[in-house]
Amino acid sequence: MDLDYVLHTYARDYTHFVKGSGARLFDESGRDYMDFGSGIAVCSVGYGNERLAKAISEQAYNLIHTSNLYGIEPQARLAKRLVELSGYDMRVFFANSGAEANEGALKIARKFGEQLGGIKRYQIITLDSSFHGRTISTLKATAQSKMHDYFGPYPDGFVYAKDLAEIPSKISDVTCAVLLELVQGEGGITPFKREEILHLEKFLKAKNILLMIDEVQTGIYRSGELFASQKYGINPDVITTAKGLGGGVPIGAVMTTLKDIFVPGEHGSTFGGNFLSTRAGLEVLEILEEERSSGRLERTITCFKDRLKDLQKSYPEIFIEEVGLGLMRGLRMRDVESLEKFIKKAKENRVLILKSGKNTARFLPPLTITLEEMEEGFKRLEKAIGDLG
Ligand SMILES: *Cc1c(COP(=O)(O)O)cnc(C)c1O
Repeated sequence: MDLDYVLHTYARDYTHFVKGSGARLFDESGRDYMDFGSGIAVCSVGYGNERLAKAISEQAYNLIHTSNLYGIEPQARLAKRLVELSGYDMRVFFANSGAEANEGALKIARKFGEQLGGIKRYQIITLDSSFHGRTISTLKATAQSKMHDYFGPYPDGFVYAKDLAEIPSKISDVTCAVLLELVQGEGGITPFKREEILHLEKFLKAKNILLMIDEVQTGIYRSGELFASQKYGINPDVITTAKGLGGGVPIGAVMTTLKDIFVPGEHGSTFGGNFLSTRAGLEVLEILEEERSSGRLERTITCFKDRLKDLQKSYPEIFIEEVGLGLMRGLRMRDVESLEKFIKKAKENRVLILKSGKNTARFLPPLTITLEEMEEGFKRLEKAIGDLG
């Protein structure tokens, strides 16, 4: 049915998951899989989370949606929580996905560039190996030319830098913003160095160019803090987020210190910030803030990282190095073929892991994963490595 009726945009594996609990997924024959990918960083509080399920179901029995024509209490409360917990003096716009959050950021940058007066500043610098989404603009913002085939012409005004050091030389008198991920999620899980980011922040502030951080993957406690920007100690002008925020319910957000950048009518979304998704987001933030403030999240990160490092040290002929930030981690493989094989063998041994870039095995476990689930997952990974032959 899928092949007959659904457009072929995904190279699917037809395992049928029918149930989930904690970090485990169960297929139709009852086999359990340890999920070290959490639906690509989405299922931040795991599967079958009672608090989240209860919050969503109670909200669904009351109001799911009314539209942004009227006040939406959980939307205002979620915006307040994002501001309070981040410590950033910002306002929030809610969208439905990462790409749509980034579209909001691009519009903020373009309007900022116009409001400065003089010639319109419109160019936005992004980085090689970045990923910002699949809409026409965010695809163009994604500096991977192999993804640009067929869909042009694209909107003008995207300039690519090969790394952080190249950004200054790409700035012109029409540059309005730099958009980047602090850890490139699709581009190989490489955290940028803190000093380099701090240096860039200072440089951009002096030039009155916006620093926009795409935290669609790094955000919502994946780094150990609500935002990786906090971990880096920077004050971005714009932050976008999505994936983990709704725990599986679609929601995205763009936040900015430019609190009055938009007036009514300049930006919007029918679904964005509705009762259901923002109620889910509120519960996810409460659950994860408890994980952080109790010290549990930090212990989980340390443990997961140590287990991956042990694996790398035990099999240096397979894994070059262990990389990452928080619970967004990678094992760099010696060659591309062994990566495909490793992911396949892991699956056969019932652990789900992901790929990032050309040669990195990516690990994005639920942030609420237990020690028992971790131990079991790593035991299965050891077996998978044994099966690599
Ligand atoms: C996944 C991702 C996006 C796109 O999010 P969608 O919800 O798929 O639109 C954008 N930026 C980053 C860094 C991502 O990881």
